[in-house]
Amino acid sequence: MYDITIVGAGPAGSTLARLLGKDYKILLLDRRDLISYKKGSFEKCCGGLIAPDAQYMLAKLGVGVPKEVLVGPQLFNVRTIDFQNKMERFYQRHYINIDRQKFDIWLVSLIPSNVDIRCGTLFKSYEVKKETIVVNFLSDGKSFTEETKFLVGADGANSILRRLLTGSKFHETYISVQEWFKVNQNQPYFSAIFDSEVSDFYSWTIPKEDYLIVGAAIKPKDNVSQKFELLKEKLINYGYELNKSKKKNGAFMLRPQNARQIFIGKDNILLIGEAAGWISPTSAEGLSYAFRSAIALAKSFASSPGNLLGEYYKETSGLRINIMQKNLKSPFMYNPLIRKVVLKSGLLSMNVEEQN
Ligand SMILES: Cc1cc2nc3c(=O)[nH]c(=O)nc-3n(C[C@H](O)[C@H](O)[C@H](O)COP(=O)(O)OP(=O)(O)OC[C@H]3O[C@@H](n4cnc5c(N)ncnc54)[C@H](O)[C@@H]3O)c2cc1C
Repeated sequence: MYDITIVGAGPAGSTLARLLGKDYKILLLDRRDLISYKKGSFEKCCGGLIAPDAQYMLAKLGVGVPKEVLVGPQLFNVRTIDFQNKMERFYQRHYINIDRQKFDIWLVSLIPSNVDIRCGTLFKSYEVKKETIVVNFLSDGKSFTEETKFLVGADGANSILRRLLTGSKFHETYISVQEWFKVNQNQPYFSAIFDSEVSDFYSWTIPKEDYLIVGAAIKPKDNVSQKFELLKEKLINYGYELNKSKKKNGAFMLRPQNARQIFIGKDNILLIGEAAGWISPTSAEGLSYAFRSAIALAKSFASSPGNLLGEYYKETSGLRINIMQKNLKSPFMYNPLIRKVVLKSGLLSMNVEEQN
């Protein structure tokens, strides 16, 4: 019998396992192999940028990112391109550019050795018994069950646990597509592209060594592949070098429109990270939210295991305010008329002397 079973060893699940591993008997399940790095293995589709808020959380967690996880170039500005208003601006912002698969493996390596980590394991379902929860999962094609007192869903945007608990889909779900292009000369910035012909959210380019990632978050009801092709066409016309495609992948991405859409769990089943809906609705930055929600739940276990859900709700009040504030800021980025005024004002923007 385990005290806590965590489904998902991404940034949220691995952080919770690290913080509670010494004090509780924990089972951590993930369908991915996060013990050793294998090129070409199944990886989380992600831009792999650690934004300032996530850097702050890593500082709070008292960890430093090892150099093996970093990829070049390190980025100091955002190129904001508004196709609709035909405008462009640069803004200073420091991102740590990482290999996301190596980052997740490094986070798992920090978990205390007494945590039972089972990779290549697919969580299927659970049953609530009188005192415990029975967890059903598949490994190597075989079915297994384990009993646990608490079950934590850290299984990301497409969380099966959230769907089992709520019986419905998250309100605002996007499909994100990323395509990697081999390039001769890479760009020293992260581009954020706004164009409602492509998406009511945003698109991006991120340099990774000899590759440039082109990504977009598009509503599933729109024609996702057609919109993505349109984005590439526009970028090529804008001067981007996108002829040698190396790989393409996709993932769900949530966009909470208000804090009420966040679902933190029920009774002894709790959700953290993007499974709960914790992600920035303006930038889709999710790493800091994964860390913050994991820390909040770890604190709740330490202070009030008898009223876990209530305590976790209290511990995440700052995160709820943060989601509300981001939604208030949203029109300045996503309303084309307001955005035009902001970009035209040049407020906080900078001139870049030399561009590649
Ligand atoms: C295209 C894209 C680009 C992004 N770029 C950035 C970025 O640059 N910076 C940033 O901060 N955020 C970014 N995000 C958001 C960020 O990736 C997520 O918010 C973050 O990874 C959430 O962490 P998590 O631990 O909650 O979930 P995840 O990282 O999604 O981890 C969930 C884990 O659960 C496992 N899992 C899922 N289902 C099961 C199951 N049934 N059984 C077993 N295991 C399971 C998965 O294998 C995975 O390891 C991006 C998202 C997308 C889609």
